[in-house]
Amino acid sequence: MENVKRKRLLIIGSGPAGYTAAVYAARAMLDPVLIQGIQPGGQLTITTDVENWPGDSMVQGPDLMLRMQEHAASTGAEIVSDHILSIDLSSRPFSARADSGDAYFADAVILATGAQAKWLGLPSEEKFKGHGVSACATCDGFFYRGKEVVVVGGGNTAAEEAIFLTKFATRVTLIHRRNELRSDKILQNRLFENEKIELLWDHVVDEVIGDEAPPSVTGVRVKHVASGRTKDLRCAGVFIAIGHSPASELVASQLETHSGGYVSVEPGSTATSIPGVFAAGDITDHVYRQAVTSAGMGCMAALDAEKFLAENPEP
Ligand code: FAD
Ligand code: NAP
Repeated sequence: MENVKRKRLLIIGSGPAGYTAAVYAARAMLDPVLIQGIQPGGQLTITTDVENWPGDSMVQGPDLMLRMQEHAASTGAEIVSDHILSIDLSSRPFSARADSGDAYFADAVILATGAQAKWLGLPSEEKFKGHGVSACATCDGFFYRGKEVVVVGGGNTAAEEAIFLTKFATRVTLIHRRNELRSDKILQNRLFENEKIELLWDHVVDEVIGDEAPPSVTGVRVKHVASGRTKDLRCAGVFIAIGHSPASELVASQLETHSGGYVSVEPGSTATSIPGVFAAGDITDHVYRQAVTSAGMGCMAALDAEKFLAENPEP
């Protein structure tokens, strides 16, 4: 049966931004409720080694996020396993409806819904999604034991996925549309030193090739960006690692956004274009996009919300 919950602060999202906001908000006695969404723990739950979280020279992404959840819960934040389907920011209290049917009314909202994987947009990619095409090496790498795979992209995710996949695959070809990577130098060095990894520069995937019944990938057709010449590469798996888009669909028509959907915030603040609504983490950040910066923004959002609620008591 549907519950109606009235809260001072609603936090949407359970990545580093959401959990950090929950810790600060609970300690400020704001009685926050945090809705986890369909990916409890956020993006770090689909990676393995995290080597740049201060205080841990190496920590597993899922472990780190579990610790954050436990920390937030221990401070008194209410953590709810549910997904927000819609939100109305037109007047206070703001209202949101969850997948379970529950409704939330809150005086302030922190948006921490992060980002989602981008896809190439090829019909053949869509056709073989889940049948050889993936955006998560950590989730699906194991299926490619003793097989050849390709990774598409040139950022940190692509580099990490390629290195990770060498645990299983006999050969990993990293396909990048330019002739230099944008990933950290330390990852580039690991890539170049790894004998199982080949780099295919200045190429894009034109088509994913495979069998129909049962659907399975057998290769990719790649195209040279300058000449347009195509060739086929044999592979059983295609890992798309070309970045992420902000998960701002809930609010994109209600708030000011920039750079293709990132929620705009005032410089040096997490305040959005609607007073009482704050944004933290990858939903607003198209530059840094790190766990630690997201956590930092989560802290800022809770402090901003605390100040707002003190100055703007319950309507
Ligand atoms: P996210 O982690 O994206 O979490 C978003 C949350 O919002 C999720 O819990 C989701 O369920 C929830 N949500 C979304 N929509 C809704 C909704 N409608 N209702 C309720 N909840 C919703 N960064 C590093 O610093 N170091 C690394 O080593 C590193 N490795 C990475 C490896 C990979 C493979 C990827 C993809 C990213 C990596 N990053 C790394 C980047 C880092 O994960 C992100 O910067 C960080 O997780 C962003 O945190 P966030 O809290 O903004 O959002
Ligand atoms: P990213 O840095 O945005 O890189 C995306 C890559 O994909 C770029 O190389 C880009 O090419 C390429 N690309 C984009 N669209 C493409 C298309 N349609 N076809 C072919 N190639 C395409 O994304 P990311 O690697 O997912 O990283 C996102 C953020 O998370 C970054 O801030 C990153 O630092 C962070 N992260 C950090 C770590 C870590 O610290 N260890 C690990 C993973 C992610 P161009 O280079 O030509 O633009």
